[in-house]
Amino acid sequence: MDAKIGVLALQGNVSEHIDAFLSALERMGQGPSSEVFEVRSPAELAECNALALPGGESTTISRLIEKNGLYEPLRQFSGGIFATCAGMVLMASRVDDQRIRPLGLIEMTVDRNAFGRQRESFEADLPVDGLDGGPFHAIFIRAPVVTSAGSSVHVLARTPQGIVAVEQGKHIALSFHPELGPDTRLHERFLHRLGIGVVGP
Ligand code: GLN
Repeated sequence: MDAKIGVLALQGNVSEHIDAFLSALERMGQGPSSEVFEVRSPAELAECNALALPGGESTTISRLIEKNGLYEPLRQFSGGIFATCAGMVLMASRVDDQRIRPLGLIEMTVDRNAFGRQRESFEADLPVDGLDGGPFHAIFIRAPVVTSAGSSVHVLARTPQGIVAVEQGKHIALSFHPELGPDTRLHERFLHRLGIGVVGP
């Protein structure tokens, strides 16, 4: 299946996601018919089979999702979502901040600034369940933590503070920022699970 990957471009951190997905597609040997593009409207979202939900300020992104008429289209989106940091907060079913209307696409409760109160940012080598090739070098910036996850959620990684990477169905949500480093294994795993980059019979 060709990749039609959108990056929700309501706040910053967009070009890093585009570049990371382009590198992942190149490593997976995807041809020129695969695309990565910015998404700001329901019409653009409808063109995608995968979507990156970048970091930023989850309160602001939540407000912009409503303003752009994207709340219901995102909830109904049939593709997979690759959510990082503030994106993870938005994917939750419950969030510790009334200003955010989470999408409820992953059955989890998120504490949106769990690390921020202790340290603004840090890096750590994280073992990720099912990821070959050793630990993932993870960059955390005012990162959220999953404080509880439902039975349909696959926990991929934890720190002493709590869960920092999960999968549910087609979606993946990460407290950290894989788009800021050179390692595209998590992007490739996400695309493989969607059947993108897999040569059909
Ligand atoms: N904790 C921040 C928030 O919820 C997210 C930080 C980030 O995306 N780097 O708004």
